[in-house]
Amino acid sequence: MIIIDGKKTAADLRLNLKTEVDNLKKKFNKVPGLTVILIGEYAPSKIYVRNKEKSAEEIGLKSEIVKYPKTVDEKTVLEKIYELNQDDTVSGILVQLPLPKHIDNKKVIDAINPRKDVDGFHPNNVGNLSSGYKSSIPCTPLGCYLLIKNIEPNLSGKKAVVLGRSNLNGKPMTQLLLKENCTVTITHSKTKNLKEECLKADILVVAVGIPKLVKGDWVKKGTIVIDVGINKTDKGIVGDVDFDEVSKSAKAITPVPGGVGPMTIACLLKNTIECFKRSLV
Ligand code: NAD
Repeated sequence: MIIIDGKKTAADLRLNLKTEVDNLKKKFNKVPGLTVILIGEYAPSKIYVRNKEKSAEEIGLKSEIVKYPKTVDEKTVLEKIYELNQDDTVSGILVQLPLPKHIDNKKVIDAINPRKDVDGFHPNNVGNLSSGYKSSIPCTPLGCYLLIKNIEPNLSGKKAVVLGRSNLNGKPMTQLLLKENCTVTITHSKTKNLKEECLKADILVVAVGIPKLVKGDWVKKGTIVIDVGINKTDKGIVGDVDFDEVSKSAKAITPVPGGVGPMTIACLLKNTIECFKRSLV
Protein backbone atom coordinates (compact mmCIF):
# COMPACT_ATOMS: atom_id res chain seq x y z
CA MET A 1 0.00 0.00 0.00
CA ILE A 2 1.28 3.43 -0.95
CA ILE A 3 0.68 6.46 1.25
CA ILE A 4 0.61 9.24 -1.32
CA ASP A 5 3.00 11.97 -0.21
CA GLY A 6 1.31 15.18 -1.30
CA LYS A 7 3.89 17.31 0.49
CA LYS A 8 6.76 15.86 -1.51
CA THR A 9 4.87 15.88 -4.82
CA ALA A 10 3.94 19.52 -4.22
CA ALA A 11 7.54 20.42 -3.30
CA ASP A 12 8.81 18.75 -6.51
CA LEU A 13 6.20 20.60 -8.55
CA ARG A 14 7.13 23.95 -6.96
CA LEU A 15 10.80 23.29 -7.76
CA ASN A 16 9.96 22.66 -11.43
CA LEU A 17 7.78 25.78 -11.48
CA LYS A 18 10.62 27.85 -10.01
CA THR A 19 12.91 26.72 -12.82
CA GLU A 20 10.18 27.61 -15.31
CA VAL A 21 9.78 31.10 -13.80
CA ASP A 22 13.58 31.63 -13.95
CA ASN A 23 13.58 30.65 -17.63
CA LEU A 24 10.60 32.90 -18.44
CA LYS A 25 12.36 35.78 -16.69
CA LYS A 26 15.51 35.24 -18.75
CA LYS A 27 13.56 34.98 -21.99
CA PHE A 28 10.96 37.75 -21.57
CA ASN A 29 12.47 39.91 -18.81
CA LYS A 30 9.24 39.67 -16.80
CA VAL A 31 7.68 37.27 -14.32
CA PRO A 32 4.11 36.04 -13.85
CA GLY A 33 2.12 38.03 -11.28
CA LEU A 34 -0.60 36.78 -8.94
CA THR A 35 -3.02 39.17 -7.25
CA VAL A 36 -5.30 37.90 -4.49
CA ILE A 37 -8.28 39.91 -3.26
CA LEU A 38 -9.04 39.25 0.40
CA ILE A 39 -12.21 40.63 1.95
CA GLY A 40 -12.81 40.65 5.71
CA GLU A 41 -11.10 39.01 8.65
CA TYR A 42 -12.15 35.34 8.31
CA ALA A 43 -9.18 33.59 9.93
CA PRO A 44 -8.87 30.52 7.61
CA SER A 45 -9.00 32.81 4.54
CA LYS A 46 -6.24 34.99 6.00
CA ILE A 47 -4.06 31.91 6.56
CA TYR A 48 -4.73 30.53 3.04
CA VAL A 49 -3.93 33.89 1.45
CA ARG A 50 -0.71 34.31 3.45
CA ASN A 51 0.39 30.80 2.40
CA LYS A 52 -0.43 31.56 -1.24
CA GLU A 53 1.63 34.75 -1.11
CA LYS A 54 4.58 33.02 0.56
CA SER A 55 4.58 30.13 -1.94
CA ALA A 56 4.27 32.51 -4.89
CA GLU A 57 7.24 34.56 -3.72
CA GLU A 58 9.33 31.44 -3.07
CA ILE A 59 9.17 30.44 -6.73
CA GLY A 60 9.84 33.99 -7.95
CA LEU A 61 6.34 35.16 -8.89
CA LYS A 62 5.27 38.74 -8.33
CA SER A 63 2.66 38.51 -5.61
CA GLU A 64 0.20 41.07 -4.29
CA ILE A 65 -2.69 40.96 -1.82
CA VAL A 66 -5.46 43.55 -2.09
CA LYS A 67 -7.29 43.73 1.25
CA TYR A 68 -10.74 45.17 1.93
CA PRO A 69 -12.78 45.34 5.15
CA LYS A 70 -15.85 43.05 5.21
CA THR A 71 -18.08 46.13 4.79
CA VAL A 72 -16.62 46.95 1.34
CA ASP A 73 -19.30 47.45 -1.31
CA GLU A 74 -19.61 45.20 -4.35
CA LYS A 75 -18.94 48.05 -6.80
CA THR A 76 -15.51 48.75 -5.27
CA VAL A 77 -14.52 45.09 -5.62
CA LEU A 78 -15.79 44.86 -9.20
CA GLU A 79 -13.94 48.06 -10.17
CA LYS A 80 -10.74 46.66 -8.71
CA ILE A 81 -11.19 43.49 -10.75
CA TYR A 82 -11.73 45.54 -13.95
CA GLU A 83 -8.53 47.46 -13.15
CA LEU A 84 -6.56 44.23 -12.58
CA ASN A 85 -7.98 42.78 -15.83
CA GLN A 86 -6.28 45.67 -17.67
CA ASP A 87 -2.97 45.47 -15.77
CA ASP A 88 -0.29 43.68 -17.86
CA THR A 89 1.80 42.87 -14.77
CA VAL A 90 -1.07 40.79 -13.34
CA SER A 91 -1.26 37.31 -14.92
CA GLY A 92 -3.67 35.77 -12.43
CA ILE A 93 -6.49 37.13 -10.25
CA LEU A 94 -7.98 35.19 -7.36
CA VAL A 95 -10.80 36.38 -5.12
CA GLN A 96 -10.61 34.45 -1.87
CA LEU A 97 -13.94 32.80 -1.02
CA PRO A 98 -16.20 32.86 0.93
CA LEU A 99 -17.36 36.44 0.33
CA PRO A 100 -19.52 38.49 2.70
CA LYS A 101 -23.25 37.92 2.07
CA HIS A 102 -23.88 41.34 0.48
CA ILE A 103 -21.40 40.58 -2.34
CA ASP A 104 -22.66 38.41 -5.20
CA ASN A 105 -20.25 35.49 -5.79
CA LYS A 106 -21.36 35.02 -9.38
CA LYS A 107 -20.96 38.68 -10.31
CA VAL A 108 -17.45 38.71 -8.87
CA ILE A 109 -16.36 35.51 -10.62
CA ASP A 110 -17.92 36.63 -13.92
CA ALA A 111 -16.02 39.94 -13.71
CA ILE A 112 -12.60 38.26 -13.78
CA ASN A 113 -11.06 38.05 -17.24
CA PRO A 114 -11.25 34.27 -17.96
CA ARG A 115 -7.64 34.41 -19.19
CA LYS A 116 -6.60 35.56 -15.69
CA ASP A 117 -8.95 33.25 -13.79
CA VAL A 118 -6.39 31.16 -11.88
CA ASP A 119 -9.11 29.41 -9.87
CA GLY A 120 -10.85 28.14 -13.01
CA PHE A 121 -14.29 29.18 -11.69
CA HIS A 122 -15.30 31.51 -14.55
CA PRO A 123 -18.12 30.00 -16.67
CA ASN A 124 -15.88 30.20 -19.77
CA ASN A 125 -13.28 28.02 -18.08
CA VAL A 126 -15.91 25.64 -16.70
CA GLY A 127 -17.34 25.29 -20.23
CA ASN A 128 -13.93 24.88 -21.82
CA LEU A 129 -12.99 22.14 -19.35
CA SER A 130 -16.20 20.22 -20.00
CA SER A 131 -15.75 20.63 -23.79
CA GLY A 132 -12.18 19.37 -23.59
CA TYR A 133 -10.61 22.72 -24.59
CA LYS A 134 -7.68 24.47 -22.90
CA SER A 135 -8.79 26.14 -19.66
CA SER A 136 -7.75 27.02 -16.15
CA ILE A 137 -8.58 24.01 -14.00
CA PRO A 138 -9.69 24.45 -10.38
CA CYS A 139 -6.61 23.95 -8.20
CA THR A 140 -7.77 21.19 -5.82
CA PRO A 141 -9.10 18.77 -8.47
CA LEU A 142 -6.03 19.51 -10.60
CA GLY A 143 -3.87 18.53 -7.61
CA CYS A 144 -5.90 15.31 -7.13
CA TYR A 145 -5.54 14.52 -10.82
CA LEU A 146 -1.74 14.91 -10.72
CA LEU A 147 -1.51 12.66 -7.64
CA ILE A 148 -3.64 9.97 -9.33
CA LYS A 149 -1.58 10.15 -12.55
CA ASN A 150 1.63 9.70 -10.54
CA ILE A 151 0.31 6.38 -9.27
CA GLU A 152 -1.51 5.23 -12.41
CA PRO A 153 -0.46 6.96 -15.65
CA ASN A 154 -2.99 5.05 -17.79
CA LEU A 155 -6.50 5.58 -16.46
CA SER A 156 -8.31 4.50 -19.62
CA GLY A 157 -11.29 2.27 -18.88
CA LYS A 158 -10.93 2.54 -15.11
CA LYS A 159 -14.04 2.93 -13.02
CA ALA A 160 -13.88 6.23 -11.10
CA VAL A 161 -16.32 7.25 -8.40
CA VAL A 162 -16.42 10.85 -7.17
CA LEU A 163 -18.16 11.68 -3.89
CA GLY A 164 -19.48 15.25 -3.87
CA ARG A 165 -20.69 17.42 -6.76
CA SER A 166 -19.45 20.90 -5.80
CA ASN A 167 -18.32 23.33 -8.50
CA LEU A 168 -15.04 23.57 -6.60
CA ASN A 169 -14.21 19.87 -6.40
CA GLY A 170 -16.58 17.12 -7.52
CA LYS A 171 -17.72 18.48 -10.89
CA PRO A 172 -14.30 19.50 -12.29
CA MET A 173 -12.80 16.26 -10.92
CA THR A 174 -15.39 14.32 -12.91
CA GLN A 175 -14.43 16.20 -16.09
CA LEU A 176 -10.72 15.48 -15.58
CA LEU A 177 -11.37 11.76 -15.08
CA LEU A 178 -13.69 11.64 -18.12
CA LYS A 179 -10.95 13.23 -20.22
CA GLU A 180 -8.73 10.31 -19.17
CA ASN A 181 -11.37 7.87 -20.47
CA CYS A 182 -12.48 6.71 -17.05
CA THR A 183 -16.06 5.57 -16.59
CA VAL A 184 -17.19 8.06 -13.98
CA THR A 185 -19.98 8.02 -11.43
CA ILE A 186 -20.60 11.25 -9.52
CA THR A 187 -22.46 10.89 -6.22
CA HIS A 188 -23.96 13.40 -3.77
CA SER A 189 -26.08 13.77 -0.67
CA LYS A 190 -29.14 12.23 -2.36
CA THR A 191 -27.32 9.20 -3.78
CA LYS A 192 -28.76 5.86 -2.70
CA ASN A 193 -26.48 2.95 -1.75
CA LEU A 194 -23.33 5.05 -1.56
CA LYS A 195 -21.34 2.11 -0.18
CA GLU A 196 -22.25 -0.05 -3.22
CA GLU A 197 -21.18 2.75 -5.58
CA CYS A 198 -17.85 3.13 -3.76
CA LEU A 199 -17.22 -0.61 -3.90
CA LYS A 200 -17.16 -0.43 -7.74
CA ALA A 201 -14.35 2.14 -7.80
CA ASP A 202 -10.82 1.64 -9.10
CA ILE A 203 -10.33 5.35 -8.37
CA LEU A 204 -12.25 6.94 -5.50
CA VAL A 205 -12.17 10.71 -4.95
CA VAL A 206 -13.97 11.94 -1.85
CA ALA A 207 -14.89 15.63 -1.44
CA VAL A 208 -17.84 15.77 0.90
CA GLY A 209 -16.90 17.38 4.22
CA ILE A 210 -18.07 14.56 6.54
CA PRO A 211 -15.36 13.18 8.85
CA LYS A 212 -14.45 9.54 8.12
CA LEU A 213 -17.57 8.95 5.97
CA VAL A 214 -15.86 6.27 3.85
CA LYS A 215 -15.28 3.08 5.84
CA GLY A 216 -12.97 0.12 5.30
CA ASP A 217 -15.69 -2.12 3.84
CA TRP A 218 -16.68 0.57 1.25
CA VAL A 219 -13.46 0.10 -0.75
CA LYS A 220 -12.41 -2.95 -2.75
CA LYS A 221 -8.82 -4.19 -2.85
CA GLY A 222 -6.50 -2.22 -5.12
CA THR A 223 -8.42 1.08 -5.22
CA ILE A 224 -6.64 4.45 -5.42
CA VAL A 225 -8.27 6.65 -2.76
CA ILE A 226 -7.99 10.45 -2.82
CA ASP A 227 -9.34 12.21 0.26
CA VAL A 228 -10.07 15.91 -0.30
CA GLY A 229 -11.89 16.43 3.01
CA ILE A 230 -10.54 18.72 5.70
CA ASN A 231 -12.60 18.41 8.87
CA LYS A 232 -11.79 19.90 12.25
CA THR A 233 -12.63 17.45 15.06
CA ASP A 234 -11.76 17.09 18.76
CA LYS A 235 -8.99 14.72 17.63
CA GLY A 236 -7.53 17.21 15.16
CA ILE A 237 -7.90 17.51 11.40
CA VAL A 238 -9.33 14.42 9.69
CA GLY A 239 -10.39 13.63 6.14
CA ASP A 240 -13.64 12.25 4.70
CA VAL A 241 -12.08 8.76 4.60
CA ASP A 242 -11.39 6.54 7.59
CA PHE A 243 -7.67 6.30 6.83
CA ASP A 244 -6.82 3.48 9.28
CA GLU A 245 -9.57 1.21 7.93
CA VAL A 246 -9.38 2.07 4.23
CA SER A 247 -5.59 1.89 4.02
CA LYS A 248 -5.89 -1.87 4.66
CA SER A 249 -7.49 -2.45 1.25
CA ALA A 250 -6.44 0.56 -0.84
CA LYS A 251 -3.62 0.32 -3.39
CA ALA A 252 -2.73 3.94 -2.61
CA ILE A 253 -4.28 6.57 -0.34
CA THR A 254 -3.75 10.24 0.50
CA PRO A 255 -3.37 11.09 4.20
CA VAL A 256 -5.06 14.13 5.78
CA PRO A 257 -3.19 16.34 6.35
CA GLY A 258 -0.28 15.96 3.91
CA GLY A 259 -2.15 14.60 0.89
CA VAL A 260 -4.28 16.80 -1.35
CA GLY A 261 -3.89 20.02 0.68
CA PRO A 262 -0.27 20.87 -0.29
CA MET A 263 -1.08 20.24 -3.98
CA THR A 264 -3.79 22.92 -4.04
CA ILE A 265 -1.41 25.85 -3.61
CA ALA A 266 1.22 24.33 -5.91
CA CYS A 267 -1.47 24.05 -8.61
CA LEU A 268 -2.44 27.69 -8.07
CA LEU A 269 1.15 28.64 -8.89
CA LYS A 270 1.04 26.34 -11.92
CA ASN A 271 -2.18 28.00 -13.12
CA THR A 272 -0.66 31.48 -12.69
CA ILE A 273 2.30 30.51 -14.89
CA GLU A 274 -0.06 28.97 -17.48
CA CYS A 275 -2.08 32.24 -17.58
CA PHE A 276 1.16 34.20 -18.06
CA LYS A 277 2.26 31.95 -20.92
CA ARG A 278 -1.16 32.23 -22.59
CA SER A 279 -0.93 36.04 -22.34
CA LEU A 280 2.24 35.93 -24.47
CA VAL A 281 0.51 34.42 -27.50
P1 NAD B 1 -19.40 21.40 -0.54
O1 NAD B 1 -20.07 21.51 0.78
O2 NAD B 1 -19.49 22.52 -1.51
O3 NAD B 1 -19.93 20.10 -1.29
C1 NAD B 1 -20.07 18.89 -0.61
C2 NAD B 1 -20.66 17.87 -1.55
O4 NAD B 1 -20.79 16.65 -0.84
C3 NAD B 1 -22.05 18.23 -2.08
O5 NAD B 1 -22.06 18.07 -3.48
C4 NAD B 1 -23.00 17.24 -1.42
O6 NAD B 1 -24.07 16.82 -2.26
C5 NAD B 1 -22.06 16.09 -1.13
N1 NAD B 1 -22.51 15.31 0.03
C6 NAD B 1 -22.94 15.75 1.23
N2 NAD B 1 -23.28 14.71 2.03
C7 NAD B 1 -23.04 13.61 1.31
C8 NAD B 1 -23.17 12.22 1.59
N3 NAD B 1 -23.64 11.79 2.75
N4 NAD B 1 -22.81 11.36 0.62
C9 NAD B 1 -22.35 11.78 -0.57
N5 NAD B 1 -22.18 13.07 -0.88
C10 NAD B 1 -22.53 13.97 0.04
O7 NAD B 1 -17.89 21.03 -0.21
P2 NAD B 1 -16.51 21.25 -1.02
O8 NAD B 1 -16.20 22.69 -1.08
O9 NAD B 1 -16.49 20.44 -2.27
O10 NAD B 1 -15.50 20.60 0.03
C11 NAD B 1 -15.56 19.23 0.40
C12 NAD B 1 -14.49 18.95 1.43
O11 NAD B 1 -13.22 19.23 0.85
C13 NAD B 1 -14.55 19.83 2.69
O12 NAD B 1 -14.13 19.05 3.80
C14 NAD B 1 -13.53 20.93 2.43
O13 NAD B 1 -12.99 21.47 3.61
C15 NAD B 1 -12.49 20.15 1.66
N6 NAD B 1 -11.65 20.96 0.77
C16 NAD B 1 -10.33 20.68 0.75
C17 NAD B 1 -9.48 21.35 -0.10
C18 NAD B 1 -8.02 20.99 -0.13
O14 NAD B 1 -7.20 21.76 -0.61
N7 NAD B 1 -7.66 19.80 0.34
C19 NAD B 1 -9.97 22.36 -0.94
C20 NAD B 1 -11.34 22.60 -0.92
C21 NAD B 1 -12.18 21.90 -0.07
